[in-house]
Amino acid sequence: MLDTSSLFHSHGLKLITYCPLCRTHYSIRDAKILEEREDSHLMHIVCRRCSSSILVLMLIGELGVSSVGMVTDLTSDDVLRLKDVLPVTDDDVLCLHECLQQEEFPLAE
Ligand SMILES: [Zn+2]
Repeated sequence: MLDTSSLFHSHGLKLITYCPLCRTHYSIRDAKILEEREDSHLMHIVCRRCSSSILVLMLIGELGVSSVGMVTDLTSDDVLRLKDVLPVTDDDVLCLHECLQQEEFPLAE
């Protein structure tokens, strides 16, 4: 089991460094981890400047950590509520990952 905070420090903000809309750099305080699993973490980040939100799925695999993000208008509370109504399965995580890869926006340069 990986330690979340060290994982986040070493990978999270390296992969997701700034807001895709206004390019403001995120600070670690802007991010909220919504779900921690052994192989994936779901994070919600709110930009301090333009207040846009992104949802980030970090996948921890044998080859390392990858992340995909998408702009959302859900608050972190919304995400948590929806997540409980519709339990996320491994298939959903895989599907989300595949779907997002097709329309991935560059999170880091
Ligand atoms: Zn922004």
